[in-house]
Amino acid sequence: MLSFRIAKIMGIPIELHITFILLLVLVYYFWGLDGLILYIFLFASVVLHELAHSYVAKKHGVYIEKILLLPIGGMAMMSKIPKKGELKIAIAGPIVSILLGITLTVLSSLIGGPILRINGINYPLLTTVGILNIFLGVFNLLPAFPMDGGRILRALLASKMDYLKATKIASIVGQYFSFLLLLFGVLSFNIILILIALFIYYGASQEYNALVAEEIFDKIKAKDIMNPRIVSVSPTDSVRDLVYLMFKYRYMGYPVIENGKLVGTVSFNDITTVSDQIAIRDIMKPPVTVPEDATLNDVIFKLGSSDRVYVMDKNDRLRGIISKTDVLRILRILRLKDNDIIKKISL
Ligand SMILES: [Zn+2]
Repeated sequence: MLSFRIAKIMGIPIELHITFILLLVLVYYFWGLDGLILYIFLFASVVLHELAHSYVAKKHGVYIEKILLLPIGGMAMMSKIPKKGELKIAIAGPIVSILLGITLTVLSSLIGGPILRINGINYPLLTTVGILNIFLGVFNLLPAFPMDGGRILRALLASKMDYLKATKIASIVGQYFSFLLLLFGVLSFNIILILIALFIYYGASQEYNALVAEEIFDKIKAKDIMNPRIVSVSPTDSVRDLVYLMFKYRYMGYPVIENGKLVGTVSFNDITTVSDQIAIRDIMKPPVTVPEDATLNDVIFKLGSSDRVYVMDKNDRLRGIISKTDVLRILRILRLKDNDIIKKISL
């Protein structure tokens, strides 16, 4: 991401995305210096909103990488939000925005404050920023992902039902909401409303899909998806023996077993440039292993560094093999009928 740091508050870096700078130039061009000042105040408000989320999130032990400012708004990038703290974390942003908005509006009626002049119209700075903050808070309360309201709705639903179902309902509510917004946007020729509607629609479905994948991956264990048919080689076998096995079984990688113990792994890529007479012992690599009850999430993580993982039982004996191709096939099958399969697996 093309962004650079402008400040660090409460230990959280605040970064500006490059497109944000371009937008500032445009704002200055069309609305002049006063427009630019107003815009900067608006984005300071967005930062405060995100800081409010981040502050509560930090209290719940969430790691906050940074707050990124994009032309469409701010984003606090944090590690996974714990289910328990979600309601408080989500509601903190709108509360701060609305309180700040009310404070600024009241303050403005007491002391007045500077007046900005944009395209011939006067804007009292405090009142305008105050109203924008109230709008920011209320808008974020819309019950649709990725708005805070979507998370609040999910957290409230999750106190009555399981998390996945709560997410599904919140996500459907969000999609209906985005259709309504889209309709308004089209009828009023409002391009910004149309863009926001599409953004919400995308966010709503994304949130649910990501969670479904995560929940399902956690329930699927290595032993459910491993190939239990083990064709192995011995360290003293030659590359020629291995080629013969590959020809016969057409697996692209093999465990190397010595005295019943897994001691290495050898694959097609390891033999392409060596002579037929070389012993497997001289070209084998250390195997990547997982326990039988490792989750699909763990397996996918391990497959980042190897083309296949070996599934070991409690006595450290090889029980099966999972290759990258196996996992890709499993993901395709899950996409087809996720719920049915998950029911069978959790039996
Ligand atoms: Zn928010």
